[in-house]
Amino acid sequence: MASLRIAVLRERGAGERRVAATPETVRKFVALGAEVAIERGAGLEASIPDADYASAGAQVAGSAVEAVRSADIVLGVQGPDPGRLTGANPGAWLVASLDPFARRDRIDAYAAAGIEALAMEFMPRITRAQSMDILSSQSNLSGYKAVIDAAGVYGRAFPMMMTAAGTISAARVFVMGVGVAGLQAIATARRLGAQVSATDVRSATKEQILSLGAKPIFVESVAGIEGEGSGGYATEMSAEYQAAQAELVSAHIAKQDIVITTALIPGKPAPRLISDAQIASMKPGSVIFDLAVAQGGNVEGSVADQVVDLHGVKVLGWSNTPAALAADASALFARNLYNFLSAFWDKDQGRPVLDAEIGDAVRLTQGGKVVHERLLG
Ligand code: NAD
Repeated sequence: MASLRIAVLRERGAGERRVAATPETVRKFVALGAEVAIERGAGLEASIPDADYASAGAQVAGSAVEAVRSADIVLGVQGPDPGRLTGANPGAWLVASLDPFARRDRIDAYAAAGIEALAMEFMPRITRAQSMDILSSQSNLSGYKAVIDAAGVYGRAFPMMMTAAGTISAARVFVMGVGVAGLQAIATARRLGAQVSATDVRSATKEQILSLGAKPIFVESVAGIEGEGSGGYATEMSAEYQAAQAELVSAHIAKQDIVITTALIPGKPAPRLISDAQIASMKPGSVIFDLAVAQGGNVEGSVADQVVDLHGVKVLGWSNTPAALAADASALFARNLYNFLSAFWDKDQGRPVLDAEIGDAVRLTQGGKVVHERLLG
């Protein structure tokens, strides 16, 4: 039996610095009996030299074409241009973050090319898939990085300091959206010594905010989302809730130094949480980091990959925050991919065989067609 061949391409998306395999995961795939080919230079931006992949047992291929030739599985951080998959085996799997709604053109092209595309961002949020969840692993790092970068452009310190020259007060940080990124943002801001408050539409987050030593700021007059909602996700809120939230935020935000927004609604543009008028009410020198800027933005006037000055407030956000921590982000992303494929490894067939619960959730294309219900509807 020929061994399964896994190909890893160098990422070509603008600003993408991550890589979908590390020497650690290469070694583990080889131990499962797979052959791994990695395109030359694939790990350089994540501080991984080709030689480290070679020592882990990978073949370092001189080009993408050579890496993909006869591949059974192609791993990526983002989906590659469909043309780059030419030469892969018929029915080869593409396992990556595929942005299925925004990049529907690509998904159709993968289907036409006979590729079985598996979208890692569609991994169900069930206990046994936690170690395969790229959204969590990358959001956690993004929440950390948002606070660090906000601190970097803030012209003051975060902790309270009592010095011989006098005392400076602690920064006030407000985190809006307390999912995976928001929780890490709260923890990071607390570690830096800030006074932290946070809000969400899901009432279950109140306890989590308190347990991290921050103050919950919640709409009380209109019911939010009780329980875990659908798969733990938020939905669009009623006009009444939005009005109550805007009023609450207006009263709170003028007293804040740093605001980190992380609110997302799956498959929808990010909810608008901060208006231009609210920004104008903040003190000059305050900073807003909009982690949702690439999904339409939580903040009016935020521009991806720029620090804009609005009424003396610096507003920033990156289109690809995890790429700014490429080494750690790659290590976790690569482990998510390995955990996924190895969990389904069939020893007799020498390859992964998916079950229905997870397979149907992530599989976008098969047998030349788009098969995912969320893309057919
Ligand atoms: P997300 O990135 O989709 O959204 C970020 C946060 O924004 C969420 O907490 C959401 O409630 C909040 N939000 C949405 N609209 C808002 C608004 N108008 N105002 C304020 N906040 C708003 O969320 P996420 O980080 O992916 O996490 C969502 C949930 O899923 C969490 O409860 C998390 O613990 C859970 N989760 C479960 C698993 C698992 O069981 N495998 C894995 C990861 C996350």
